[in-house]
Amino acid sequence: MATRYTRSLGSTDKQGVAKEKVDTMRIILSKDGNHHDQQINEWETLWQDNITPWDLGETTPLLSDELHKGLHNHLSYIRKYRDYRVLVPGCGTGYDLFTIAKHISSCANYSPKFDSSFVVVGLDVSPTSLQKADKAIREMMDNDDNDINDLSSQVDIQLKHGDFFKIQNEWVLYSTIDCFLQNRNETRDENLNQDWSPFDFIFDYTFFCALSPKLREKWAMTMTKLIKPQGGKLLTIMFPILENLDPNKPLRGPPFPVKVQDYKSVLEPLGWKVIDGPRVSEKSVEIRKHQELICWWEYDPS
Ligand code: SAH
Repeated sequence: MATRYTRSLGSTDKQGVAKEKVDTMRIILSKDGNHHDQQINEWETLWQDNITPWDLGETTPLLSDELHKGLHNHLSYIRKYRDYRVLVPGCGTGYDLFTIAKHISSCANYSPKFDSSFVVVGLDVSPTSLQKADKAIREMMDNDDNDINDLSSQVDIQLKHGDFFKIQNEWVLYSTIDCFLQNRNETRDENLNQDWSPFDFIFDYTFFCALSPKLREKWAMTMTKLIKPQGGKLLTIMFPILENLDPNKPLRGPPFPVKVQDYKSVLEPLGWKVIDGPRVSEKSVEIRKHQELICWWEYDPS
Protein backbone atom coordinates (compact mmCIF):
# COMPACT_ATOMS: atom_id res chain seq x y z
CA MET A 1 0.00 0.00 0.00
CA ALA A 2 1.34 3.40 -0.89
CA THR A 3 -0.26 5.37 1.94
CA ARG A 4 1.74 6.30 5.00
CA TYR A 5 0.40 8.34 7.87
CA THR A 6 2.08 10.59 10.35
CA ARG A 7 2.59 8.72 13.56
CA SER A 8 0.61 10.20 16.37
CA LEU A 9 3.05 9.27 19.12
CA GLY A 10 4.23 12.88 18.97
CA SER A 11 7.05 14.74 20.62
CA THR A 12 8.68 13.97 23.97
CA ASP A 13 6.56 16.65 25.62
CA LYS A 14 3.44 15.22 24.19
CA GLN A 15 4.46 11.75 25.34
CA GLY A 16 4.85 13.15 28.84
CA VAL A 17 1.35 14.62 28.65
CA ALA A 18 0.13 11.37 27.17
CA LYS A 19 1.61 9.35 30.01
CA GLU A 20 -0.08 11.62 32.52
CA LYS A 21 -3.35 11.34 30.63
CA VAL A 22 -3.09 7.56 30.41
CA ASP A 23 -2.44 7.43 34.17
CA THR A 24 -5.48 9.65 34.81
CA MET A 25 -7.53 7.54 32.48
CA ARG A 26 -6.53 4.38 34.32
CA ILE A 27 -7.83 5.89 37.57
CA ILE A 28 -11.11 6.98 35.96
CA LEU A 29 -11.64 3.68 34.17
CA SER A 30 -10.92 1.70 37.33
CA LYS A 31 -13.94 3.13 39.07
CA ASP A 32 -17.18 1.20 39.36
CA GLY A 33 -19.63 0.55 36.56
CA ASN A 34 -21.79 3.54 37.47
CA HIS A 35 -18.99 5.78 36.20
CA HIS A 36 -19.27 4.23 32.78
CA ASP A 37 -20.61 7.38 31.11
CA GLN A 38 -17.73 9.37 32.55
CA GLN A 39 -15.29 6.81 31.13
CA ILE A 40 -16.88 7.14 27.74
CA ASN A 41 -16.62 10.93 27.84
CA GLU A 42 -12.99 10.56 28.81
CA TRP A 43 -12.27 8.59 25.64
CA GLU A 44 -13.86 11.30 23.54
CA THR A 45 -11.79 13.96 25.33
CA LEU A 46 -8.61 12.01 24.66
CA TRP A 47 -9.44 11.77 20.97
CA GLN A 48 -10.36 15.46 20.77
CA ASP A 49 -7.09 16.43 22.48
CA ASN A 50 -5.08 14.14 20.20
CA ILE A 51 -3.80 12.21 23.21
CA THR A 52 -3.76 8.84 21.51
CA PRO A 53 -0.53 7.11 22.49
CA TRP A 54 -1.94 3.72 21.43
CA ASP A 55 -2.38 4.81 17.83
CA LEU A 56 0.33 3.37 15.60
CA GLY A 57 -0.50 5.74 12.76
CA GLU A 58 -1.01 2.79 10.44
CA THR A 59 -2.22 -0.77 10.56
CA THR A 60 0.07 -3.25 12.24
CA PRO A 61 1.92 -5.47 9.72
CA LEU A 62 1.11 -8.30 12.06
CA LEU A 63 -2.56 -8.17 11.07
CA SER A 64 -1.90 -8.53 7.34
CA ASP A 65 0.38 -11.44 8.08
CA GLU A 66 -2.17 -13.17 10.29
CA LEU A 67 -5.01 -12.62 7.82
CA HIS A 68 -2.92 -13.89 4.97
CA LYS A 69 -2.19 -17.06 6.92
CA GLY A 70 -5.70 -17.14 8.38
CA LEU A 71 -7.35 -17.24 4.98
CA HIS A 72 -5.56 -20.52 4.41
CA ASN A 73 -6.47 -22.03 7.75
CA HIS A 74 -8.58 -20.42 10.51
CA LEU A 75 -10.59 -18.29 8.11
CA SER A 76 -10.49 -20.55 5.07
CA TYR A 77 -14.19 -21.33 5.48
CA ILE A 78 -15.11 -17.80 4.46
CA ARG A 79 -14.54 -18.68 0.84
CA LYS A 80 -17.64 -20.81 1.06
CA TYR A 81 -19.82 -18.10 2.54
CA ARG A 82 -22.06 -15.72 0.68
CA ASP A 83 -22.31 -13.41 3.66
CA TYR A 84 -19.61 -12.60 6.08
CA ARG A 85 -19.49 -10.09 8.89
CA VAL A 86 -16.49 -8.82 10.77
CA LEU A 87 -16.40 -6.61 13.86
CA VAL A 88 -13.55 -4.47 15.19
CA PRO A 89 -14.63 -3.08 18.58
CA GLY A 90 -12.80 0.05 19.72
CA CYS A 91 -11.61 0.56 16.15
CA GLY A 92 -9.95 3.94 16.80
CA THR A 93 -8.60 5.39 13.56
CA GLY A 94 -9.79 2.38 11.62
CA TYR A 95 -6.62 1.38 9.77
CA ASP A 96 -7.32 -2.25 10.63
CA LEU A 97 -10.76 -2.11 9.02
CA PHE A 98 -9.18 -1.32 5.70
CA THR A 99 -6.60 -4.09 6.10
CA ILE A 100 -9.32 -6.62 6.87
CA ALA A 101 -11.48 -5.39 3.99
CA LYS A 102 -8.57 -5.70 1.58
CA HIS A 103 -7.80 -9.24 2.62
CA ILE A 104 -11.40 -10.27 2.40
CA SER A 105 -11.79 -8.72 -1.01
CA SER A 106 -8.71 -10.55 -2.23
CA CYS A 107 -10.36 -13.70 -1.01
CA ALA A 108 -13.54 -12.77 -2.85
CA ASN A 109 -11.50 -12.24 -5.99
CA TYR A 110 -10.01 -15.66 -5.49
CA SER A 111 -13.18 -17.33 -6.63
CA PRO A 112 -14.62 -15.87 -9.81
CA LYS A 113 -18.10 -17.06 -8.88
CA PHE A 114 -18.07 -15.45 -5.47
CA ASP A 115 -21.32 -13.61 -5.03
CA SER A 116 -20.96 -12.22 -1.59
CA SER A 117 -21.93 -9.64 0.96
CA PHE A 118 -19.00 -8.76 3.18
CA VAL A 119 -19.39 -6.24 5.94
CA VAL A 120 -16.53 -4.98 8.09
CA VAL A 121 -17.85 -2.98 11.03
CA GLY A 122 -15.74 -0.64 13.12
CA LEU A 123 -17.32 0.32 16.42
CA ASP A 124 -16.15 3.11 18.67
CA VAL A 125 -17.62 5.11 21.47
CA SER A 126 -15.80 8.28 20.42
CA PRO A 127 -17.34 10.26 17.53
CA THR A 128 -14.01 12.01 16.98
CA SER A 129 -12.20 8.70 16.48
CA LEU A 130 -14.83 7.70 13.94
CA GLN A 131 -14.39 10.96 12.03
CA LYS A 132 -10.67 10.25 11.91
CA ALA A 133 -11.36 6.70 10.81
CA ASP A 134 -13.64 7.90 8.06
CA LYS A 135 -10.95 10.24 6.74
CA ALA A 136 -8.18 7.64 7.05
CA ILE A 137 -10.17 4.94 5.26
CA ARG A 138 -11.10 7.27 2.41
CA GLU A 139 -7.44 8.21 2.02
CA MET A 140 -6.37 4.59 2.09
CA MET A 141 -8.93 3.71 -0.55
CA ASP A 142 -7.90 6.66 -2.74
CA ASN A 143 -4.23 5.81 -2.45
CA ASP A 144 -4.47 2.10 -2.74
CA ASP A 145 -2.35 1.08 -5.67
CA ASN A 146 -3.29 -2.57 -5.76
CA ASP A 147 -5.25 -3.85 -8.64
CA ILE A 148 -8.60 -4.00 -6.93
CA ASN A 149 -11.36 -3.09 -9.32
CA ASP A 150 -13.63 -1.53 -6.78
CA LEU A 151 -13.08 -2.49 -3.19
CA SER A 152 -16.17 -0.66 -1.98
CA SER A 153 -18.45 -2.68 -4.23
CA GLN A 154 -17.13 -5.89 -2.70
CA VAL A 155 -16.72 -5.04 0.96
CA ASP A 156 -18.86 -2.64 2.91
CA ILE A 157 -16.82 -0.89 5.60
CA GLN A 158 -19.19 0.56 8.19
CA LEU A 159 -18.33 2.89 11.03
CA LYS A 160 -20.66 2.70 13.99
CA HIS A 161 -20.86 4.93 17.01
CA GLY A 162 -21.80 2.99 20.11
CA ASP A 163 -20.89 1.34 23.35
CA PHE A 164 -19.64 -2.22 22.97
CA PHE A 165 -21.45 -3.20 26.16
CA LYS A 166 -24.79 -1.98 24.88
CA ILE A 167 -24.29 -3.39 21.44
CA GLN A 168 -26.75 -6.21 21.88
CA ASN A 169 -29.68 -4.00 22.68
CA GLU A 170 -29.15 -0.86 20.69
CA TRP A 171 -26.81 -1.53 17.94
CA VAL A 172 -26.85 -4.95 16.41
CA LEU A 173 -30.59 -5.09 16.14
CA TYR A 174 -30.98 -1.71 14.54
CA SER A 175 -28.04 -1.43 12.22
CA THR A 176 -26.18 -4.56 11.32
CA ILE A 177 -29.29 -6.64 10.99
CA ASP A 178 -30.93 -3.94 8.89
CA CYS A 179 -27.90 -3.92 6.64
CA PHE A 180 -27.92 -7.69 6.53
CA LEU A 181 -31.55 -7.71 5.50
CA GLN A 182 -31.14 -4.82 3.10
CA ASN A 183 -28.75 -6.97 1.12
CA ARG A 184 -31.62 -9.35 0.57
CA ASN A 185 -34.33 -6.74 0.01
CA GLU A 186 -36.04 -7.98 3.14
CA THR A 187 -37.38 -6.10 6.14
CA ARG A 188 -36.72 -6.74 9.78
CA ASP A 189 -38.79 -9.26 11.64
CA GLU A 190 -39.83 -7.44 14.80
CA ASN A 191 -39.72 -10.72 16.71
CA LEU A 192 -36.14 -11.34 15.77
CA ASN A 193 -34.37 -13.51 18.30
CA GLN A 194 -32.41 -11.21 20.59
CA ASP A 195 -29.67 -13.80 20.87
CA TRP A 196 -28.89 -13.80 17.20
CA SER A 197 -25.12 -13.62 16.89
CA PRO A 198 -24.05 -12.02 13.71
CA PHE A 199 -20.28 -11.85 13.46
CA ASP A 200 -18.11 -14.49 11.83
CA PHE A 201 -14.87 -12.84 12.85
CA ILE A 202 -13.99 -10.33 15.57
CA PHE A 203 -10.64 -8.62 15.90
CA ASP A 204 -9.53 -7.21 19.25
CA TYR A 205 -6.39 -5.12 19.36
CA THR A 206 -5.83 -2.65 22.19
CA PHE A 207 -9.48 -2.89 23.15
CA PHE A 208 -9.34 -5.49 25.94
CA CYS A 209 -6.47 -3.60 27.52
CA ALA A 210 -8.35 -0.31 27.17
CA LEU A 211 -11.12 -1.50 29.46
CA SER A 212 -11.13 -1.52 33.20
CA PRO A 213 -10.19 -5.04 34.42
CA LYS A 214 -13.57 -5.04 36.16
CA LEU A 215 -15.19 -5.15 32.71
CA ARG A 216 -13.24 -8.14 31.41
CA GLU A 217 -15.86 -10.72 32.27
CA LYS A 218 -18.49 -8.56 30.61
CA TRP A 219 -16.18 -8.16 27.61
CA ALA A 220 -16.11 -11.96 27.24
CA MET A 221 -19.87 -12.25 27.65
CA THR A 222 -20.45 -9.60 25.01
CA MET A 223 -18.01 -11.27 22.61
CA THR A 224 -19.91 -14.51 23.13
CA LYS A 225 -23.21 -12.86 22.28
CA LEU A 226 -21.78 -11.29 19.18
CA ILE A 227 -19.95 -14.20 17.61
CA LYS A 228 -21.52 -16.77 15.36
CA PRO A 229 -21.84 -20.01 17.35
CA GLN A 230 -19.97 -23.01 15.98
CA GLY A 231 -17.10 -21.70 14.03
CA GLY A 232 -16.96 -17.95 14.76
CA LYS A 233 -13.36 -16.78 15.21
CA LEU A 234 -11.84 -14.17 17.48
CA LEU A 235 -8.34 -12.87 16.92
CA THR A 236 -6.89 -11.20 19.98
CA ILE A 237 -3.57 -9.49 19.98
CA MET A 238 -2.72 -9.64 23.65
CA PHE A 239 -1.03 -6.36 24.43
CA PRO A 240 0.75 -5.04 26.43
CA ILE A 241 1.96 -8.23 28.12
CA LEU A 242 2.57 -7.32 31.74
CA GLU A 243 5.55 -9.61 32.35
CA ASN A 244 7.44 -8.19 29.37
CA LEU A 245 7.03 -4.49 30.11
CA ASP A 246 10.12 -2.50 30.85
CA PRO A 247 9.39 -0.71 34.15
CA ASN A 248 11.79 2.06 33.10
CA LYS A 249 9.80 2.95 30.00
CA PRO A 250 6.47 4.79 30.01
CA LEU A 251 3.47 2.75 29.01
CA ARG A 252 2.51 3.70 25.48
CA GLY A 253 -0.96 2.45 24.96
CA PRO A 254 -4.31 1.84 26.52
CA PRO A 255 -3.98 1.70 30.20
CA PHE A 256 -4.30 -1.84 31.54
CA PRO A 257 -1.47 -4.32 30.87
CA VAL A 258 -2.59 -7.92 30.41
CA LYS A 259 -1.62 -11.51 31.10
CA VAL A 260 -2.54 -14.48 28.92
CA GLN A 261 -4.51 -15.85 31.85
CA ASP A 262 -6.67 -12.70 31.92
CA TYR A 263 -8.15 -13.68 28.55
CA LYS A 264 -8.33 -17.39 29.31
CA SER A 265 -10.06 -16.97 32.64
CA VAL A 266 -12.95 -15.05 31.09
CA LEU A 267 -13.28 -16.74 27.68
CA GLU A 268 -12.75 -20.43 28.42
CA PRO A 269 -15.62 -20.86 30.89
CA LEU A 270 -17.97 -19.55 28.18
CA GLY A 271 -16.96 -22.13 25.57
CA TRP A 272 -14.09 -20.43 23.78
CA LYS A 273 -11.05 -22.52 22.85
CA VAL A 274 -7.60 -21.39 21.83
CA ILE A 275 -6.98 -22.72 18.33
CA ASP A 276 -3.64 -21.04 17.72
CA GLY A 277 -1.26 -19.33 20.13
CA PRO A 278 -0.50 -17.49 22.23
CA ARG A 279 2.64 -16.82 20.21
CA VAL A 280 4.91 -13.98 19.23
CA SER A 281 5.11 -12.60 15.71
CA GLU A 282 8.19 -11.31 13.99
CA LYS A 283 5.85 -8.80 12.33
CA SER A 284 5.19 -6.86 15.53
CA VAL A 285 6.20 -3.22 15.15
CA GLU A 286 9.53 -2.47 16.80
CA ILE A 287 8.15 -0.61 19.82
CA ARG A 288 5.78 -3.49 20.61
CA LYS A 289 8.18 -6.39 20.05
CA HIS A 290 8.06 -8.83 23.00
CA GLN A 291 5.02 -7.00 24.32
CA GLU A 292 2.32 -8.65 22.25
CA LEU A 293 1.09 -12.17 21.62
CA ILE A 294 -1.21 -13.45 18.91
CA CYS A 295 -4.03 -15.71 19.93
CA TRP A 296 -6.81 -17.15 17.76
CA TRP A 297 -9.97 -18.34 19.46
CA GLU A 298 -12.94 -20.35 18.33
CA TYR A 299 -16.33 -20.33 19.95
CA ASP A 300 -17.99 -23.69 20.12
CA PRO A 301 -20.52 -24.06 22.90
CA SER A 302 -21.21 -27.73 22.09
N1 SAH B 1 -7.95 -0.38 18.26
C1 SAH B 1 -7.48 0.97 18.11
C2 SAH B 1 -7.84 1.89 19.26
C3 SAH B 1 -7.46 1.38 20.63
S1 SAH B 1 -7.78 2.50 21.98
C4 SAH B 1 -5.98 0.95 17.90
O1 SAH B 1 -5.34 -0.10 18.04
O2 SAH B 1 -5.41 2.00 17.58
C5 SAH B 1 -9.31 1.89 22.56
C6 SAH B 1 -10.48 2.40 21.75
O3 SAH B 1 -11.67 1.86 22.31
C7 SAH B 1 -10.64 3.92 21.79
O4 SAH B 1 -10.77 4.39 20.47
C8 SAH B 1 -11.92 4.16 22.59
O5 SAH B 1 -12.62 5.31 22.18
C9 SAH B 1 -12.69 2.86 22.35
N2 SAH B 1 -13.62 2.46 23.41
C10 SAH B 1 -13.40 2.49 24.75
N3 SAH B 1 -14.46 2.00 25.42
C11 SAH B 1 -15.36 1.63 24.47
C12 SAH B 1 -16.66 1.04 24.53
N4 SAH B 1 -17.24 0.73 25.69
N5 SAH B 1 -17.30 0.76 23.36
C13 SAH B 1 -16.72 1.07 22.17
N6 SAH B 1 -15.50 1.63 22.05
C14 SAH B 1 -14.83 1.92 23.19
